[in-house]
Amino acid sequence: MIVVGWVGLALGPGGCAAAQPPSPSASPTTATPATSSPKPTASATTAKPRRSASPRASAPSASGTVSRRGVRATVTFIDVGQGDSILLQIGSFTALVDGGDVAAGGHVAAVLRARGVRRIDELVVTHPHADHIGGLPTVIAAFPVRQAIIDEAGTSATYRGLIAALRQRGTPIVRRYAGAVLRFGAARVLVLHPSPSLTGDYNTDSIVLVISVDGRSIMLTGDVTGTGESDVTARYRGPPLYVLKVAHHGSATSTSAAFLARVHPRFAVIEVGPNSYGHPAASTLRRLRASGATIYTTWKNGDISLSIAPSGAARWSFSRSSRAVTASAINSTRTTAAATAAGAVTGTAADPIVYITRTGSKYHRAGCRYLSHSAIPIRLSVAKARGYTPCSVCDPPR
Ligand SMILES: [Zn+2]
Ligand SMILES: [Zn+2]
Repeated sequence: MIVVGWVGLALGPGGCAAAQPPSPSASPTTATPATSSPKPTASATTAKPRRSASPRASAPSASGTVSRRGVRATVTFIDVGQGDSILLQIGSFTALVDGGDVAAGGHVAAVLRARGVRRIDELVVTHPHADHIGGLPTVIAAFPVRQAIIDEAGTSATYRGLIAALRQRGTPIVRRYAGAVLRFGAARVLVLHPSPSLTGDYNTDSIVLVISVDGRSIMLTGDVTGTGESDVTARYRGPPLYVLKVAHHGSATSTSAAFLARVHPRFAVIEVGPNSYGHPAASTLRRLRASGATIYTTWKNGDISLSIAPSGAARWSFSRSSRAVTASAINSTRTTAAATAAGAVTGTAADPIVYITRTGSKYHRAGCRYLSHSAIPIRLSVAKARGYTPCSVCDPPR
């Protein structure tokens, strides 16, 4: 684990979050999506953190993690290869947004266990594509899930598998549309998208959330694109973002200059792995850098964790490199680690891509710590045929 030091933030007294509600489940209420915050004009580094609007007095929860000043919050962008999975821990409240593809379920569950998760209070499914939901049945089998938010139903076998797993758990499924305000423990969560009139294009209809905790704002975008991103741009009235989870794995068709001018992220995290789509696009990286954002990707940095103290101080840690992505670094990542994966080697759900090293006898899943020096993509069937055996640390598909 590589840790980057605390990023201090001058936060005056009273930079608090509201008390944790008595029920660990989010209690959605409706409100207008527009907040009273002014249009962002300053950079995130100097912006005054937004305070919670709730006038309720805070009181310690049974876990003792809630103080008058807020809670410790940790956001982990899990390295699921090409796909998304984000773990939010706000005090003792746990939310999981997406679960990677089917091959990533074991890694997501392992990260949750390593982070001390016992149950998932809120599961958010941004949209029903396999790279966001395929790993969830494995996760749901391992952890109780109190509630799931799913706005758009899928039709695939993968989606049916997700619904079956939730039914087996007895997990209620609810819809939360633009304007809803949720509570993830002490964090205020605004649903920015979609509206109930869905387009039918899964990416366009992605659920977009803004999480406000300890004076920091974090936007999670799923794969939102096109008119969906325009809607988000029009609706967002909050402060400059501290972190933007970049939409659609850094695709060229999302993250427009107009969107970035509105949300103005200080950090941008791209969940992406070896793929044949050209994600992340060089043009998107250029727009992000032009907006002043520091860019991390799960491809280069591994599992990425952001820990926010009640004071607002932030600390980043990474399971692989701690270096931010530059245009040239992305190119070298592509050519050295995964050029073949982006072109010749493509996996399927039944025969996914795994990784071998130049010298080892084990095969691994993307993000395994044993892949720090070399990571050669190879189809699972080929790895097994060549005598490679599964790594006991990352527990790749068998
Ligand atoms: Zn996706
Ligand atoms: Zn998608």
